[in-house]
Amino acid sequence: MIRQPHPASLGQVQSPSMEIASNGQSPSKAEITTEAWLALIESCTSELPNEACGILACSQQPIAPDGLLRIDRIFPIRNASSSSKQTFTFDPKEWVQALLSIQKNRQSLVGFYHSHPTTAPVPSLADLEGMKYAPAASYWIVSLADSQHPVVQPYWFNGTAFIPLMFAQISV
Ligand SMILES: [Zn+2]
Repeated sequence: MIRQPHPASLGQVQSPSMEIASNGQSPSKAEITTEAWLALIESCTSELPNEACGILACSQQPIAPDGLLRIDRIFPIRNASSSSKQTFTFDPKEWVQALLSIQKNRQSLVGFYHSHPTTAPVPSLADLEGMKYAPAASYWIVSLADSQHPVVQPYWFNGTAFIPLMFAQISV
């Protein structure tokens, strides 16, 4: 049972900053910088055995005309769920702080991530349920089922379903 940020937490930040920077476009593939990828893995392994969660941002145009979604920043957010081994809920204070730093640094919010400490990087029914309240966004799951070999899988949530995205890790 894995959950997307609790609807109540998302509801508190329905400000302009909550706009997901998709420009109405759906990406077909994703790219993450090595630095952001390492930060993502570190944020997830350091929270074991609990689920980690947070948001992903981009400093440039988040979706290129060719459909490439770019990620170059990770903002870990404390998992405030009382059953944090199976679910996650964004700590409301840190969630707002992360959105404010994104705004301040002129970055764009492009997605959400959470970890699956013992299962595959496949969205659970609860993940789908949680998306009812979320905007179209990229949605990254980090599987630590084999903690020596984390598996990262991004999806695009199009309003009804999770579409897996091809992705590459790049050095800049
Ligand atoms: Zn999940």
